[in-house]
Amino acid sequence: TFERLLTGWDGQQVAVRYDTEFATWMFIGVHSTCDGRSGGGTRMAVYSAPEDGLADALKLSAAMTRKMAVCNVSMGGGKAVLAVPSLPTGEARVELLHRYGEFIGSLSGLYATAPDMNTSERDMDTIGERTEHVFCKSVEKGGSGSTAPDTAVGVFHGIRASVEHALGRDLDGVRVLVQGLGAVGSRLAHQLSAAGAEVLVSDVNAERVAASGLPAVDPAAVIGTECDVYAPCALGGTITATTVEQLRCRVVAGAANNQLASPDLADRLHERGILYAPDYVINSGGVLHGTGLELLGWDQPRLDQALRGLGDTLLELYADNGRSPVHAAEALVARRRAR
Ligand code: NAD
Repeated sequence: TFERLLTGWDGQQVAVRYDTEFATWMFIGVHSTCDGRSGGGTRMAVYSAPEDGLADALKLSAAMTRKMAVCNVSMGGGKAVLAVPSLPTGEARVELLHRYGEFIGSLSGLYATAPDMNTSERDMDTIGERTEHVFCKSVEKGGSGSTAPDTAVGVFHGIRASVEHALGRDLDGVRVLVQGLGAVGSRLAHQLSAAGAEVLVSDVNAERVAASGLPAVDPAAVIGTECDVYAPCALGGTITATTVEQLRCRVVAGAANNQLASPDLADRLHERGILYAPDYVINSGGVLHGTGLELLGWDQPRLDQALRGLGDTLLELYADNGRSPVHAAEALVARRRAR
């Protein structure tokens, strides 16, 4: 399986470490480098087999290359996975993250990390006790903090632009279904509500749904629910060969990474008249946050301008009406990487 995964991947390098004491596989996928470095988040998760964790690291690292290019950041794309037997807490978590920080440090800047699923700014603080190659530590520790609020703002602007293009109107009265009320989705839902949208929400965590105070859709019924915008903000891969035929929306635009189970589904969405906001464009607010504030010396107003710019970038991609916007997005990435 490792051979099949690695020969089918167009990235540069993978670093692997197995920690016996924690029964944890650490995979760092460096898809591309720019000035000898790459960046992207660390995902901590329980996988049924370690190769599933490696597959995630490889696929997500390729998306990071695209995000870095879209954001015009001179860094390549990387992604790491900590495939744990169960999510560690307390002292064990600290010790595991220290060991992981030493692993990152051993790569001498080839890869810098940031938070991703199941890793937080506090975890970045812990990793930062062992290596300097960490973005988004807490503000108290000199970092820029969580990416989620700015990711949500970027997705909000992306939805606004997508609705403008597909429906020729602003958000007032537009029905948006937000799937996943985590760090990004909960903020997004409230921003959309404040802008006058009719927001429906769904989460497998009933407490999060109740806390939102917004009308709920059963998690199993999300795909077939009629709405103007379906905003996937939970897991990736929700659009499959089956679900693409069941969608009853005009726009797919959300925060999740790798929303399409396979790339060809972008064309099928286009054939069905559903506008798809390429995920690595609309959800790149987190990259703008980390790199803008920590690498480029931006202040918050400059960052806010860049987040609004994600909407403009999408409108430019949508100008090529005859095909899925994914093709224009790929062309944009290729142009920027060639510079
Ligand atoms: P999170 O872990 O805080 O929230 C995810 C939410 O989805 C949780 O509330 C969870 O209960 C819910 N969920 C899980 N399975 C579900 C299902 N089947 N149906 C409905 N809800 C379900 O994650 P987040 O930071 O809010 O990120 C959301 C998505 O956006 C993830 O896919 C993440 O990779 C992506 N993303 C996040 C950022 C960021 O800055 N946080 C940046 C880019 C992309």
